[in-house]
Amino acid sequence: MPQDPYELLGVGHDASEQEIKKAFRQLARELHPDVNAHDPDAEEKFKDAAEAYEILSDAERRATYDRYGHEGLKSGGYAPNFDGFGSIGDLFNAFFGGGAAAGPAQGESVGVAVEIDLIEAAQGVTRKVSFQAVDRCEHCHGNGAEPGTPIETCDRCGGAGQLQAVTRTPFGQMVRTMPCDVCHGDGRVATKPCRQCRGRGRLTARRELEVDIPAGISDGQRIRLAGRGHAGEMGAPAGDLYVIVSVAADDRFVREGDDLITSLDVAAPLAALGATLEVSTLEGGVPVELAPGTQPGEVLTLREQGMPALRRSRRGSLRVGLAKLSGVGD
Ligand SMILES: [Zn+2]
Ligand SMILES: [Zn+2]
Repeated sequence: MPQDPYELLGVGHDASEQEIKKAFRQLARELHPDVNAHDPDAEEKFKDAAEAYEILSDAERRATYDRYGHEGLKSGGYAPNFDGFGSIGDLFNAFFGGGAAAGPAQGESVGVAVEIDLIEAAQGVTRKVSFQAVDRCEHCHGNGAEPGTPIETCDRCGGAGQLQAVTRTPFGQMVRTMPCDVCHGDGRVATKPCRQCRGRGRLTARRELEVDIPAGISDGQRIRLAGRGHAGEMGAPAGDLYVIVSVAADDRFVREGDDLITSLDVAAPLAALGATLEVSTLEGGVPVELAPGTQPGEVLTLREQGMPALRRSRRGSLRVGLAKLSGVGD
């Protein structure tokens, strides 16, 4: 019994085209094998979702379903079948682009979060990050064949790496080109699949990497390391690694762009007479002269004592707000 496509995608019967597309995209992401490797039913669920999307994304097909249900679609000659798509990655690409060209798919990107403190953000720091990523299988060197066994031209696509899928709809035939599900676009298949990676040419492994975090980085900024993400399918480039940097709040300084703001307690008589006081900077305490007549509430600006500007030689300022030391000098 085919399921209700609205229910499958989790949208209401009045959902807009945009909402339907968004719901499907969301679901597809969740079911993607790189994200959801532990769910053995993910592929089946994704195909169901794709069928639901095929119905609801086409205005006339949707209207037919709304009036006559699945029976109406069937008697109109519409019989969705996504078994020919093979892997979810191929199906995903078929819907969302990126796989329009034949050939093995590029690897996906990976994100990893890192927290540093303000001093590290000011000076720059090297951090070791650790993450799970798909790597080339070293047993078969990524070609998917058990070493010493022959690799032959793919029977299914005749070596072209792509297939034409013809879908019959009530409104005519739809032809779509997609990567071959047997060879995944490679055009060649192993006669005996690699026993380590079961012929995929790739394996998931934990990876460690030293990442240089540049001086001046801000909270929430991302560092992109090209080609350090998931390995691509045979011969295709790897995805990227994104290191998402958060900078922890500091007790002494508030950051405002490249400037830092701090406060200093000053006894009123001292400020009136002038004095030398120690101000905390990122590099430690520095003596600062207060001119006679300085009032609490004034702001001293120490140039070049703020944060370094990212990838530039200049630095921001340290602004020191003079606060009246309570209980003294009234
Ligand atoms: Zn292998
Ligand atoms: Zn093929």
